[in-house]
Amino acid sequence: MANNPNQIIKFKNGLQINVIKMPESKLSGIVIKIHLKEQYKNGIPHLFEHLVIDQIKKPSFLNVSGSTTLRFIAFKIIGIEDDIYDFLTKFVYNLSSFQLTDKNLESEKSIVKQELLQYRTSQLEKFASEARNKMFDSNGEYQDSVLGSLDDIDDITLEKVLKFAKNNLTAKNISCLATGNHVDNVVSILKQLDSLPVYTSKNIAFNKSKNILLAKSYSCKGTIANAQVANVSMIFKLTDSNLSTVKIYALSLFFSILTSGENALILQLRKSNHQIYFIKALPIYRYNSVYIQLILSGLPNEAKGIVIDLKHIMFNFEKTSKKILRDAFKNLYFQQNVLFDGVEHSVNSFSNMEYEQEKITSFEGVKYHEIINEYNKLISKMLLELNNINIFVEYN
Ligand SMILES: [Zn+2]
Repeated sequence: MANNPNQIIKFKNGLQINVIKMPESKLSGIVIKIHLKEQYKNGIPHLFEHLVIDQIKKPSFLNVSGSTTLRFIAFKIIGIEDDIYDFLTKFVYNLSSFQLTDKNLESEKSIVKQELLQYRTSQLEKFASEARNKMFDSNGEYQDSVLGSLDDIDDITLEKVLKFAKNNLTAKNISCLATGNHVDNVVSILKQLDSLPVYTSKNIAFNKSKNILLAKSYSCKGTIANAQVANVSMIFKLTDSNLSTVKIYALSLFFSILTSGENALILQLRKSNHQIYFIKALPIYRYNSVYIQLILSGLPNEAKGIVIDLKHIMFNFEKTSKKILRDAFKNLYFQQNVLFDGVEHSVNSFSNMEYEQEKITSFEGVKYHEIINEYNKLISKMLLELNNINIFVEYN
């Protein structure tokens, strides 16, 4: 379905609706995202997501869900086209005239607290997040926990939620996806969100330029003796200027080379005889900057060697062969089509995207040489940043 017309409609108060037409589909898919003005570490955005989702009756024939990250709240609705309009109208109405009673707040707080008690992150996720908190010279700037603590939830009052809604529920902070056959009907319902007030006093976090220092020190936790595994995290900056569409593709190309194909990190490290159990490359968005975090686990006595070899591999990125770049580009094109193949995939992909990535719902008009040019610029910038790498090793 690569040839579907994609469009981004911008309304007068700042609401954005991305449209992906699927002429063959009987389904309609909608994503409504509220981009947050700042990072809340007190669990309010997640509670707000619950308050919106749980206070509306969901018919069994629709799939409705919500999710919250550090930077946005996303609501997803999927259903048969004709069945979706009534619900969507109600949902949009509820959102644009958000109301809350003490009784609703208290019952939702207890649901969220239950969820917190059940929530258990995996060892490696915990490690990745601990590493990030260490590596950014924080002042509380970097805070991973979206859910907040039990005490945080207890502290949330009606006033706090309403203040949160007033600050974040504005047309300018909202972006949507409408996908399916008759998207016009959906768009005409969604566009009512543009009537939400606009607060111009404060810019959204992703527009703010702020220099966050990456702590350069090496840190280590645990001891190598008796350890069975070493987890390694490396963070460095990739770019700190605004992300154009071409630049986003160049970044995606870079991540694609790191994780797949013959140049993939894991294969390169294995060539140097390291036993690697796990490896992951994560992009981190901080204001205007994009960082990369490499997470690995391997044998404890190899941790030091892995760090040295990894740095080596990164320094060698300048020499990536034309063939590898071509293959990575093909892979990128393929992955992009997988992401937006069909209503359900489109909804899931869009609801997970950072604000900056939302403009790349289409691969149309993307030129190979432009991306490669941008990619080369990215790599030369990265080579300079490799002196400011931050490393965290944990022996377990
Ligand atoms: Zn939840």
